[in-house]
Amino acid sequence: MLNIGCHLSVSDGYEAMGRQALAIGANTFQFFSRNPRGGKAKDIVPEDVNALKKLMEDNSFAPILAHASYTMNLCSKDEKIREFALNALREDLARMHDLPCRLYNFHPGSHVGQGTEKGIEFIAAALNDAIKPEYDVIVLLETMAGKGSEVGSKFEELRMIIDSVELKDKLGVCLDTCHVNDAGYDIVNDLDGVLEQFDSIIGLDRLKAIHLNDSMNPSGSHKDRHEKIGKGHVGIDAITRIINHPSLRDLPFFLETPNELDGYAQEISLLREKYID
Ligand code: FE
Ligand code: FE
Ligand code: ZN
Repeated sequence: MLNIGCHLSVSDGYEAMGRQALAIGANTFQFFSRNPRGGKAKDIVPEDVNALKKLMEDNSFAPILAHASYTMNLCSKDEKIREFALNALREDLARMHDLPCRLYNFHPGSHVGQGTEKGIEFIAAALNDAIKPEYDVIVLLETMAGKGSEVGSKFEELRMIIDSVELKDKLGVCLDTCHVNDAGYDIVNDLDGVLEQFDSIIGLDRLKAIHLNDSMNPSGSHKDRHEKIGKGHVGIDAITRIINHPSLRDLPFFLETPNELDGYAQEISLLREKYID
């Protein structure tokens, strides 16, 4: 079965997201670990979280995914911004324990002119600080489009971060199909080649989740503008190959396409049709 869901809002609580997911034909979902602009995290009410846990068990959910706020920049050149980001990361990882969620994804960040290597040093230092041996969370680095001074648009950069983190068994990668397309990887014409590169540089065993998005822009554009499934430069044929690829087909897929719930429901039903069981 295709494990698929979309990004949902935590504003009505945790169980509410599980119900929304079921209502649109999803069996997983993604949510922000805190307000997307970096504010407070949603209070964890034990009854609410237990209800989500039961709903997930009763409906055989695939792993769900927490997404850090976009503003969390662990490699800013501004020390205050870095500290703020590190605090958010520490808090987020500590509270994951109370959620039925073992995957936490974040954007490596933007080095804002200091250079990729310095950025990677800061990111790895933050991860070494925040990840504790007793945590059972896998922290996912997201593949980025390479907009501005973003770190993580090349597989080699993610590999360098992993190499610099001590608790490597707690690190993974989330591949965003819009981002890798925009970064210049040709997932439309050479998906096998891109995955071979991923495997030789990072290792496919690190790949824990897919952000399934079409792109408004061609490969190599470094833009990061998500498009609805089948309406962009990746296209439905390539997306069908992605969800069915032997190395990817069992992973959880998360839509971050520009949609309301009804649009997500349509995309999920289309993708379930395209999936070869
Ligand atoms: Fe993301
Ligand atoms: Fe993404
Ligand atoms: Zn994006």
